[in-house]
Amino acid sequence: MNVLLLSDIHSNLPALEAVLEDANTTFDIGETWALGDLVGYGAEPAECLSLLTEIDAVAVAGNHDLAVAGTISTADFNHVAAAAVSWTKGVLDGGYVEHLRGLPVTLERHGITLVHGSPRAPVWEYVDREDVAASALNDVDTVGLAVGHTHFPVIYEQRGREIERVQPVTLQWHSVAGSKFLVNPGSVGQPRDRDPRASYAVIDLDAESITHMRVEYDVELAAGKIREAGLPTFLADRLRVGM
Ligand code: ZN
Repeated sequence: MNVLLLSDIHSNLPALEAVLEDANTTFDIGETWALGDLVGYGAEPAECLSLLTEIDAVAVAGNHDLAVAGTISTADFNHVAAAAVSWTKGVLDGGYVEHLRGLPVTLERHGITLVHGSPRAPVWEYVDREDVAASALNDVDTVGLAVGHTHFPVIYEQRGREIERVQPVTLQWHSVAGSKFLVNPGSVGQPRDRDPRASYAVIDLDAESITHMRVEYDVELAAGKIREAGLPTFLADRLRVGM
């Protein structure tokens, strides 16, 4: 079965729709897993949440989701992120907020642990270095660990004590004792690796492989909606450069 792995959608509906269309025309997708930050920054939080529900996506919570739910405070958010959280709270009705509040921070599916940040700090820690990836993998019993939060697509492969960063293209993993992988699919709705295309990954559970994908979407449409909504214009501008 192929699993569509999404993260950091951030209320960007044009990007989410482009990813779903690209993934479903390229692969036979059986399940969709969303690694948090479903909302925040973008202009269409309700539309993204209802689309994810429609496709039966399994989701864990990110820091933006929990801030909108009122579970965590925005004291540690920068002012643009905090402004987007408060805008999102203002436009989402109670049912959506309840839905966000009810999301688990970690889940296990088919031998893969799902978390937004890291196992020890589920909505806060950035797994952005090999040593952090190694300790994150040591904290789980599963062969695979899927994370988001950094908005950078990456794979780390760990064999025994060795950990290696694999360029985000494809990884063929071998579930032999001592071998583990960590995958970040990158961000659907706000890529930050200077590539404005939406980022996602597909895990083939039978072939034991992971493929990273990029797809163009209507950035101007998403940026225009952000400006019309009265959200900080920086959030529109950064989509064009993928930063
Ligand atoms: Zn994010």
